[in-house]
Amino acid sequence: MFAKSDLNIGSYTPVGDIIALSLCIIMIILVKQTYLRKEKDRFLIIMHILSFMLIAASANIFMQTYLVKKNVVPAFIYTMRMLHHVCLSMTMFLYIRYVQGSLWLMPKDKKRSRIAIAFIIIFTILLDITASVLKIGFYINKKHEYNAGLDFFEILYVVFAVNMIYMLIKYRKRLLMRVFTGILSVLVMSNLLLCIQGIFKQISYTTICCLLPIISIIFLFHSNPYNTDTGAVSGEFFTDEVKDNLAKGNEMVIMCCHMPGFSVYIAKSPVLKAEFMDFFRVNIKKSILYSFPNDCFVLTFTKQKNSDYEKIIDKMLSNFSESYSKFNIDYKIIIMESSDAVTDVNDYHNIIDYTDMKMPFNSVVRINDSDIKDYYDKNYILTQLEDIAAKKDLSDPRVLVYCQPVLNINTGQYDTAEALMRLKLEKTGMVFPDQFIPLAEQFNLIHNLSMIILNKTCAALRRFLTDGYIVKRISVNFSAIDLRYDSFCDEVKSIIEKNSIEYGKIAVEITESRSEADFNLMKQRVLQLQDLGIKFYLDDFGTGYSNFERIMEIPFDIIKFDRSLLIESLKNSSSQYMVKTFANMFHDLKYSILFEGVENEYDEDRCKLMMAQYLQGYKYSKPIPIEELTKFLLHV
Ligand code: C2E
Ligand code: CA
Ligand code: CA
Repeated sequence: MFAKSDLNIGSYTPVGDIIALSLCIIMIILVKQTYLRKEKDRFLIIMHILSFMLIAASANIFMQTYLVKKNVVPAFIYTMRMLHHVCLSMTMFLYIRYVQGSLWLMPKDKKRSRIAIAFIIIFTILLDITASVLKIGFYINKKHEYNAGLDFFEILYVVFAVNMIYMLIKYRKRLLMRVFTGILSVLVMSNLLLCIQGIFKQISYTTICCLLPIISIIFLFHSNPYNTDTGAVSGEFFTDEVKDNLAKGNEMVIMCCHMPGFSVYIAKSPVLKAEFMDFFRVNIKKSILYSFPNDCFVLTFTKQKNSDYEKIIDKMLSNFSESYSKFNIDYKIIIMESSDAVTDVNDYHNIIDYTDMKMPFNSVVRINDSDIKDYYDKNYILTQLEDIAAKKDLSDPRVLVYCQPVLNINTGQYDTAEALMRLKLEKTGMVFPDQFIPLAEQFNLIHNLSMIILNKTCAALRRFLTDGYIVKRISVNFSAIDLRYDSFCDEVKSIIEKNSIEYGKIAVEITESRSEADFNLMKQRVLQLQDLGIKFYLDDFGTGYSNFERIMEIPFDIIKFDRSLLIESLKNSSSQYMVKTFANMFHDLKYSILFEGVENEYDEDRCKLMMAQYLQGYKYSKPIPIEELTKFLLHV
């Protein structure tokens, strides 16, 4: 039996280490079962710390209990003691490394401190072994008595603690005050406990004191709010969980329910709360509910655990439509299944967002393969648009000009035309305006496209004129966003000049804008460019919103009546009268009128009755590549 030969060693009971051991196990279980934010690298450090702590506590229990038992080989005791200390130092080393990450230390400083700490640990190990050999440190003599002697590891722990507190205080400005106070107070508390342990000549609680700061960083840096009103966890965890499931080969069902204002209603209404729980919890095994900003809830579950998932979904939807009428909250429901076609886990979130943006309220959408393809196509188009905007090449080969000839009723000739944009992209081929214009406007990428179209139109026009064709004018579409650029007028002017085109041969098509600021800008730009001779068309008259008074404030050259007015005029005699009245009014005010979307002779006849001077539509030609416009042009 080993016996204490020296009274300078504290008394030990395994209680402290057993609690540390249990806490480590509890923490590992909790970490697995809760929805903490498990960012890869940072979270891995925590898992390593907990594992080292587990070994440190176990080794100490073994060492301390066998120290007082018979017939134990001293080598076992030495090994356990060393294991305990090395693992404990490792937890501190990793803890410092973790906090350094949160303090945004420069990589070179982090590296330097890491090398210093590793060096100190190795040095301490060597010092401790030497002290044992020289019998001034911990050693067991031939009579199986042990001597605590000098413990260099204790010095190491003090150095680490001081270093940590110093570093925290030095860089405290880099942390949120609450986080700083949280870390520091736990550090101070655990060091205080260590002092109290020393006063009572105890050595049982060292490991547990070292565990407390680790628990504090799990709380402070990884907690994920769990909403007790909805039973949902924060959406930040969603992608990690999907990634985890797909890695395990689990097929998933993802249901998204978007209801604006829902969190306000549910906090007030217990009835709604009960219905909500029913909706999201019926018969689903191992589901997780996430809440995203903007009142989006996402439920995920695996098909493996819910083989009858189709039935479950049907039941949920029928329950939903039953209770929906009671509450009258707008909703969008999106159902998506995991698919091999989705190449990046983050895209599950993006595809749902994209679908949400496109769909109307109070409808349910099940995302299928073609929706996924559509998302990737849009994404591809967007990256191409970004690339086109970044390259700023006015002759970018991906942007094509198509053209639709316009019939001039007075001359009976096709002497004007409208330029229409197309994209020709490697992966998708030809892309039409409805697929990219709204996207380009939304991401502020339209301006460069407009200037490319203007440049290419001018270049083609130059060739036509040089080759002896008669072209009175070609109109180019611009968006309200283009007009917001201060450089708009100068850019338009310089592109037209560069191609040696008379200003009067180019027209700008713009649609009416609702906002006061855009309207004023439009007026300013029109007046400035009209001075040079550039013509202006008001596009899409009759779609939705038309404010006569405002239109009159801008001296447009041509008003383009949208096809919807032509269709309207077909309905009954009073609709026809209304359209005719508009047309007469513009005519009397000396505006020219162009009818768009003339598809047949019947359309054409009506347009002629309604003061049309220009006609455009499939009856004459679909949009064609601009080079082919020569087929419609007269030659001098
Ligand atoms: P928009 O300016 O009203 O252009 C007329 C659209 O009507 C063209 O569609 C044309 O193909 C179509 N169309 C022509 N004749 C007929 C017809 O007889 N019947 C019917 N149903 N439709 C006809 P497109 O080329 O697909 O362009 C769609 C829209 O995209 C354009 O409407 C315009 O708002 C926008 N867009 C096209 N090119 C440009 C551009 O270069 N810049 C900007 N900002 N927008 C453009
Ligand atoms: Ca147009
Ligand atoms: Ca139009």
